[in-house]
Amino acid sequence: MKNIRNFCIIAHIDHGKSTLADRLLQTTGTISDREMQSQALDDMDLERERGITIKSHAVQMDYKHSNGEDYILNLIDTPGHVDFSYEVSRSIAACEGALLIVDASQGIEAQTISNLYLALEHDLEIIPILNKMDLPGAEPEEVTDQIVELIGCDPADVIPASGKTGLGVQDILNAVIDRVPAPEGDPKAPLQAMIFDSVFNSFRGIIAYFRVMNGSIKKGEKIQFVNTGETYYADEIGILKMDQHPRKEIKTGDVGYIISGIKQAKEVKVGETITSFDNPCEEAVKGFEDVKPMVFAGIYPVDTDDFEELRYSMEKLQLNDSSLVFEPESSAALGFGFRCGFLGMLHMEIIQERLEREFNMTVITTVPNVSYFCYTIREPETKIIVNNPSELPDPSIIDSIEEPYIKAQVITKSEYVGQVMNLCVEKRGELKNQVYLTQDRVEITFNMPMAEIVFDFYDRLKSVSRGYASFDYHPIGYQTSDLVKMDVLLNHEQVDALSALVHRSNAFDLGKKICLKLKELIPRQQFEIPVQASIGAKIIARETIKALRKDVTAKCYGGDISRKRKLLEKQKEGKKRMRQVGRVEVPQEAFLAVLKLN
Ligand code: GDP
Ligand code: MG
Repeated sequence: MKNIRNFCIIAHIDHGKSTLADRLLQTTGTISDREMQSQALDDMDLERERGITIKSHAVQMDYKHSNGEDYILNLIDTPGHVDFSYEVSRSIAACEGALLIVDASQGIEAQTISNLYLALEHDLEIIPILNKMDLPGAEPEEVTDQIVELIGCDPADVIPASGKTGLGVQDILNAVIDRVPAPEGDPKAPLQAMIFDSVFNSFRGIIAYFRVMNGSIKKGEKIQFVNTGETYYADEIGILKMDQHPRKEIKTGDVGYIISGIKQAKEVKVGETITSFDNPCEEAVKGFEDVKPMVFAGIYPVDTDDFEELRYSMEKLQLNDSSLVFEPESSAALGFGFRCGFLGMLHMEIIQERLEREFNMTVITTVPNVSYFCYTIREPETKIIVNNPSELPDPSIIDSIEEPYIKAQVITKSEYVGQVMNLCVEKRGELKNQVYLTQDRVEITFNMPMAEIVFDFYDRLKSVSRGYASFDYHPIGYQTSDLVKMDVLLNHEQVDALSALVHRSNAFDLGKKICLKLKELIPRQQFEIPVQASIGAKIIARETIKALRKDVTAKCYGGDISRKRKLLEKQKEGKKRMRQVGRVEVPQEAFLAVLKLN
């Protein structure tokens, strides 16, 4: 135990976490140069392309310190995006130390800080690293000042490094051993291990990664999950290098994997405690949460015949992604599909992309929304959870509606502070705090409705700050708001998939914008189409899509066949994601129009 070190890497996206992790693996010989493939830890295609670590992993490295002693270093990778902050918190809880990587040419960003706070909450030893020192734009003095200011360390504690050239890698490994405390825990106590991640393997089922807090786990023993009460057998346990190495026993302080015949990700929740069935521990590891989806949207097959296939694909996805939830729903406009719950907007995009890539499904996604609580005036008052705006009860029986709020954190340059604040206010945000990290960098904290980031917050933030803003958030509970349901009518028919809950004060403005946007997105057809927004029976905005006069192919004069064919093919391509709503053909983008209003 005294020669084990458990650590993770926390960083803002693109600051070089994956590259540095690869270097550590290479330097410790965990991965040979030949095997070395850039970003070895990100093994999903999608992940590599996006350059983010979606699923956390753990790798064990052997390392001989310059003092001659052998050490076991467990590197626990953490996901880098706000949608997965609970997973980050569990990975952090499995460690005693963290490498805090800051890009020397960028400085501290929002995720650097929010992940740092998580690490400090768990009393992790922080090893600050000034990365990408090889870049000509590196500003080591200034960024070191930022780090020193932030964590209150000695400037000499900051390790200059480069994942690219290998600078500082040896120093980092030695610092992990010298500065990160060895794990504590009672080897003689009953087994208490915490699951910090799990992956799905189509041959072996679920492989769960755990950290032993107390006691030890033995191959073949009967185990129990403390939170669910379910029992299993530890069919195979072992340690993780670049692949699995089975072992007979994993002891206090160490990290390992378990395979126990579990077939579905949802049976193994991150944060779960494993104990021995015959000699159980007294309590679960603290901090377990049942993560709840934050963002909901309808997913519908483009071709209505593909509903069953879509169900099959979603079930497959759920096998390895327990945070995805879905249930069948039907929409007058879109037919049969599923209402899906996601951790956040990125998670939603990932699922949509995976459906398309891995299952070859073409789907229509509706405007995402948060989950609302609606209280009725009926006695006794009932609370209805509304995950789909079209399910909101009739306004006459609604007493109040609550929506989820978040605490948002933006870090930007001082010159953009005014713009960012304006945006926050427009998004119904309430300023909570403003701190100058340095002369030029400001951290702004505010509370705002989660629904507002589901709309076009990210894009707007990027544009008002010219890209110089980073953003992070955490849910802080529900608050009552004056919300109304805004409906959209196409050719006088209400399109349920376009209904949204909006704040009363914004309704007129939004109604007008959405009608304009739909007018732009819906192609002209053989007849005139009125586009209207309404609250209840009251029309609040209207636009008209004029009728099409001529056949589009007519201007090809009949002579140029290939050009005509191309045009028709182009139209067909465009039709793939068209939906017939009443008499109107509506393209997929139109169902997401609300997201693109500016
Ligand atoms: P992550 O998002 O934190 O995992 O960052 P990555 O490791 O994926 O790196 C993001 C980008 O920065 C990639 O294009 C890397 O090639 C580049 N990068 C990472 N480390 C360094 C470094 O030390 N120097 C330079 N010049 N580029 C780096
Ligand atoms: Mg990465």
